[in-house]
Order: sequence, then structure tokens, then C-alpha cells
Amino acid sequence: MRRLTPVLLTSLLCGASTFAVEDVATNSRQAGAGADAYKKLAAAKSESTKMGKQLDPRAQGDWLPKKYEIRLRIDPAAKLIEGSVAMQALAIAANLRAITLDLAGNMSVASVQSGGRELKFSQLNDQLDITLAQPLKANTVFDIVINYQGQPKGKGFTFSEHQSVPMVSTYGLPFTAKQWWPCKDESSAKVNSLDLIITVPDSLSVASNGKLVKERDNNDGTKTFFWSVRYPIYPDTVSLAITNYKIFTLPYRYSATDIMDMAFYVYPEDLEKAKIDFGVLPDMMASHVSLFGDYPFLKEKYGVAEFAVQSFREHQTMPSYSAMFITGDHRNDFILAHELAHQWFGNSISVKNWSHVWLNEGFATYAYALWREHVDGRDGYLSTIRDLGSGHFEGSLYIKDTADNSKLFSDTIFNKGAWVLHMLRHVMGDEKFFLALKNYVKTFAYKNASTEDFQKVCEREYGHALDWYFKEWVYGTGQPHYKVSWTNTRNDNRSVVKLAITQIQPDSIVFRMPLDVELTTSSGSKTFVVWNKEKTQEFDFSVEGNVTQVKIDPSDWVLKTISP
Ligand SMILES: [Zn+2]
Repeated sequence: MRRLTPVLLTSLLCGASTFAVEDVATNSRQAGAGADAYKKLAAAKSESTKMGKQLDPRAQGDWLPKKYEIRLRIDPAAKLIEGSVAMQALAIAANLRAITLDLAGNMSVASVQSGGRELKFSQLNDQLDITLAQPLKANTVFDIVINYQGQPKGKGFTFSEHQSVPMVSTYGLPFTAKQWWPCKDESSAKVNSLDLIITVPDSLSVASNGKLVKERDNNDGTKTFFWSVRYPIYPDTVSLAITNYKIFTLPYRYSATDIMDMAFYVYPEDLEKAKIDFGVLPDMMASHVSLFGDYPFLKEKYGVAEFAVQSFREHQTMPSYSAMFITGDHRNDFILAHELAHQWFGNSISVKNWSHVWLNEGFATYAYALWREHVDGRDGYLSTIRDLGSGHFEGSLYIKDTADNSKLFSDTIFNKGAWVLHMLRHVMGDEKFFLALKNYVKTFAYKNASTEDFQKVCEREYGHALDWYFKEWVYGTGQPHYKVSWTNTRNDNRSVVKLAITQIQPDSIVFRMPLDVELTTSSGSKTFVVWNKEKTQEFDFSVEGNVTQVKIDPSDWVLKTISP
């Protein structure tokens, strides 16, 4: 069985040059039946009040969304979406007069209402500014309905097809939700309730987040799908995937008497291959649960929806998964393990902001190595980590410029992120490391976390400070390059080994890490752990027998290079 290297992950995600299918779909958009209506609305929009510039820029932090209801009619032929988003929100600031939502400028807002009253609004720079009917006191709950339509542009929402059947899908990268619906497009802006009421041609089905509560035939050539989410969710993981799906389920047994169905939405032509590939997911789920704790969305579901974008994305409870990955031979199990792990790391625990994206991608990438350990033992685990590459990763895991998606989803974030967890496991020891993982999941379930939050949980479990570790590996760059030499002086039947380790990486940083030192004699080998923390350091060992070989970190617990 051919297995692709997990390095493929980053080349398929978010790189601007990898979106051939999607970009074609975007560029070939035709002016369809809805275009006239769109133009009229655009004209009307430009006449609406121009008060955007006068809004208090702090308005974005002065209120919080609590609930959304997205009600859309999707016309694949016209490549048009139209409908409304009803939002319930809470005023945080006193005297709240206006709010700003994220919404792409090419989406035309027809009206904004609250309590039956029309509100003034304007659109500027992908923002929708709304003046409230009257100033609100802090802690006031208020409702807003935005009626809008448009032809979405960008990676966040695309019209495509497979075998001449329409395929409509969203793709939730940071700050792409606004390409198709008005929202507070931030990972920290979670709501506890989201309904998606989606009307499509009746030959198509809608896959989405949460639970499918109702499906209604409108007897006019359309069908409406009612999806409901009652776990906290943020906009980028809200998803639609629409085509002539075949659906199959697999049971995940989470107790002696309880079953959660896993639901798979696949193209009819890929059904048999998908049954083979996705057949691994109940076992993968059990393995992840044993390490990370209960599946966070047990009352809803886990599913996968096939889509036409050549990528994958961890939409909450229903990741999207490229048609190209459904091969019927398990060669892409690493993506399935990755996306499943995101339900804990990314969806249940979401980042406080995108600077900490390694808490999503590094963890999900590492989860595949843990799955390989479950299936193939320690050797499978270690070879998976080695496959992530041991070259020099560019930049730090902590990202300052969060507007740059190529930095947010680079192989540094995915692969060095996984290495950093792997190395932390060696620093803390298995027992404390896995307890820390579970405690992190428990402490921050359904909330947002930062690197500091994860560090604190680890320190609590480890019993010592770990600031040096996070400074080196999360906020810092580079990796150690060890120059190693050793001598052996025989003394009766013993060897006295003097080992010299010098760190010769070009940057002035000196890494502090525990290093396994393996000494081999004719009767076997013995491993010692030394703490290397100086530019040049010597270590002495006295062992029985004649030492013929000295190896530094033979299992690769440290991201490094070595030269004699
Ligand atoms: Zn990921």
C-alpha cells in the first residue's frame, strides 16, 4: 500500500498556487439570471447611507454574537446566493450605537432590520456597518436581520461540478466566512446556536454542521435542508457542501449501549471507494478518544463531505475532503486522522487568534503520528515523525502577521508544530505529557486558547517551568546543530567515555534539550539521558565492557542535525 508523506498536507492547504480547480470555478463565473437583480441591488447599495467612516473603530469589540440563523437559497446555475442572516447579539459596551459585521463588499445588502424596523447601514472595505435604532445599554440582547444576495468571490465559497452535476461548497479558511455570510469573522467569536436553512434544486443534498433536523420538499423543484448546531462554533468552521450526494453511515460505539452515527456524503461515483477509505474512521475515533478524551460533539455527529476543492478543511462535525483523496486504498489516512483530530484541536478548542494556529495544525498533524503508533507501534510513530522532515523550518510557530495565509499554513506550522509536541513528550515523559493533553482538552473545551494557556497546563502537569521550551521552539526559530566527538579510555573491564557536544548552529541561540545518548558494547547497548544546555558541554560515562559506538538521539526525539 503506497502511503503519501504527510508533507503533502501543507502543499494541499492554502497555498495560493494549489487551487487550480477552485480558481477555474471562480474565474469562469457567468453572468446568470441573477446578475440583473445583483446590479440593481449594487446600485441601491451605493445610495445607502455612507456612515461607515464615522463609526467608532472599537465597535467591533463592543458586542458579541450569540446566535445565528443563516437562511439561503442557492442557485448553482446562476452562481447566486440570496437570503438572510438573523443574528442575536449582546451589547458589551454601554451606549452601543452601531455595530460592524464582516461581509465581502461584493455581497449586496438589501436591508437590515431589527424588531421590524429598518436600520441604516453601509458597506465599506468588506465591512457592514449598521446603526442601531437607539443606543443600547450594556448587557442588552438585540436582534438583527440582514437580507442580502450576491455571487460569492474567493476561496470561501465556490461553484464547481463533478460529472456535469453542480457542486457547491464552502471552504473555511481564516476570514473567508465573510465571503458568503455576514458575521463576526473571528475565531474567538463563538456562538452557542447556529441554524442553517438551505434551499437548493431538489436533485441535490446539503451537508453541513451539527444535526440534520428536517428536510422539506417545496414542490417547486427545490428542497430545503434544516441543519442545527447547538455546540459553540465560530464562523470559519461553518460549512455547506452541496451536490447529488450518496450518504452512508458507520456506527461509532462510545459506550456499551450508546452509538453515534458517522455520516459520509460522497459523490455517487466514489461511493465504493469511500466505503473502504472511511471504514477506518470508527477505529480512528476510538484511538483519538483514548488519548484526547470524549469526542466533543457526541450529541451531533461526525461526518465527512466530499468536495471539489483540491484540499480539505476541518469544518465542525463535517470536514470537507477533496474528491482526489478518495482512492479506496487508505493512502490518505493521514488526512482523515488529521481532520478528525481538529474536532478537539481547532473546533472544540479554538485559537484565541490566528497567531496560535499551530495549536490547531501542529496538534492535528501530530495526531496522525499517534494513530500510526496505535496501529504500528513505536516504530510506526517514529517513522511518521521523521517523515515530517528534519530540515530547517522557516520562521517561528508563533505567527505575528496573521493576515498572511501562506505563513499560517506553512509546513513550519504543520510539521514543526508536530515535532514540537513530539519533543515535548520526550521532555515531560509519556505519562505527564498525555495527562497534559487530556487536561488541556478538558480545561478549554468549547472555548478559545493560546500558546500560553497550553504552556500553563503542561507546566502544571510537569511540575516545572517550561518557558525555556516554548521560547526556543514556539516563539524562536531554527534548531540545534550538534557537533559530536567522543573518546573511550579502558579501565579494567570498563569503558570511560568522554563525550563532547558543541552546538554550531549559526544563530547565537543555545538550545536546552534532553538528549538520549546510546552507548554500544559487545553485550548490547545502554541509553542515558543528558541535559544539553551549553554551547560546548562534556559528559562522562562509565560502563561495563568495551564501548564501540556512541549515538546521540538515535530515535530522533529532537529536531536537529548532527555532524562529527
Ligand atoms: Zn489542519
